[in-house]
Amino acid sequence: MSARILIVDDLEANRRLLEAKLTSEYYDVLMASRGEEAVQLAKREKPDLILMDVMMPGGIDGYEACRRIKTQPETRHIPVIILTTLDDRTEKLRGLQAGAEEFLTKPIDDVQLLARAKSLLALKVVTDELRAREANGMRLGVIGEEMRADPLDQHRVFSGTVLVVDDNASQIKRIQSALGVEHRVAILGSETDLGPPDLVVVSVTAKSFDGFRVIARMRSGEPTRHLPILAIVEPDDQKRALRALELGAHDIIVRPIDEDEIAARARTLMRRKRYIEALRARLDQGIELAITDQLTNLYNRRFLDTQLGPLVQRAQCGGEPVSVMAIDIDHFKRCNDTYGHDVGDAILREFAVRLASNVRPSDFACRLGGEEFVVLMPRTNGDIGCLAAERLRRNVCAAPFNAPGAPHPIEITVSIGVACTATADDTPEALLKRADEALYDAKRAGRNRVIGKATGGRAA
Ligand SMILES: [Mg+2]
Repeated sequence: MSARILIVDDLEANRRLLEAKLTSEYYDVLMASRGEEAVQLAKREKPDLILMDVMMPGGIDGYEACRRIKTQPETRHIPVIILTTLDDRTEKLRGLQAGAEEFLTKPIDDVQLLARAKSLLALKVVTDELRAREANGMRLGVIGEEMRADPLDQHRVFSGTVLVVDDNASQIKRIQSALGVEHRVAILGSETDLGPPDLVVVSVTAKSFDGFRVIARMRSGEPTRHLPILAIVEPDDQKRALRALELGAHDIIVRPIDEDEIAARARTLMRRKRYIEALRARLDQGIELAITDQLTNLYNRRFLDTQLGPLVQRAQCGGEPVSVMAIDIDHFKRCNDTYGHDVGDAILREFAVRLASNVRPSDFACRLGGEEFVVLMPRTNGDIGCLAAERLRRNVCAAPFNAPGAPHPIEITVSIGVACTATADDTPEALLKRADEALYDAKRAGRNRVIGKATGGRAA
């Protein structure tokens, strides 16, 4: 996987060293020597990962640069690894609390760096994909600006359920006390059932079970595949740490567990999970909104347009014919004028229910706006289309509509025009136009009727 990595360090020798390591692994490399420059470059170039030195003379240090990157909406999704010679607990916590995903001490161990980079980049592929789809949706007007939540906001705390898989009683206690403030903590094997977890902490140092197997199984099982996993490893056991990352753990923490460190790591993992969830939900909601008519919950014109083209094309290429019904509620304007728009809307909704329950599951019932509806009928010739239309027409006039707010049940009738794909040069527009003409004929002939038009005026 090729990715672009931004190296930030004030010393050229350090930059060159990292550059050599990363380019030999086929990564593209960008470089900055100061904090401000890093923030600017991150914004402009959108790298996939940032390796950030802490001590840089003049201007802002690496923590502050990281905080700024993690605060800006355009860059906050980019993972940051802090690299520093300052190796103590306070420094590490400062880095994690600035929003960095990882903190590695110089001299940098190549294997560890590349393993962490790989796992963070893999995670970023997921968010990039979702972000791209979101941007697409916004461009098409499917996802509105107002629907953009901001789940990576550094100031928000996301609590969730943490499942701990461990057999070390005192360690479990520590984890519980560290994470219990912000999250609900469940211990695997204990009686408490707190529902599906948002984060799993797995010890790969456990004696009574194989932690690697737990990670591997979670990664392959459908409901657990996307769960973030934090693996607990022994200090200086790099082999097992790498193995955990390889198997799909998102993060590692070494024993003895520092309560503040595990809290910070859990926070970052939880935030990322919420971010991905929010992106997914927004896409689903956006797509739903995009193809649904809000008043009736039928499909809308956008949906009709996207479906009709390919179906007509397939019919032209020797596939089965496609028919459409163009439907109009008779004298709907009079109804609105007499009973008011609320009753009018109720009638449209009731009609939509009858329409949806009188078409086949393979048909698409759409509302184009006002009292105009279209039913798209794949694999249907004009005769069958007319029969379906006639069935619907009868259903509508058979029983009056009980619209809430109306003084009495209201008699409703519909006029329907039906058209079917015919010639090899047929287009979606021409097909809809023929159905519209047939509908117009039905209106002119006295309403409450179905008129079919296969092509060029030939009756179906
Ligand atoms: Mg430095």
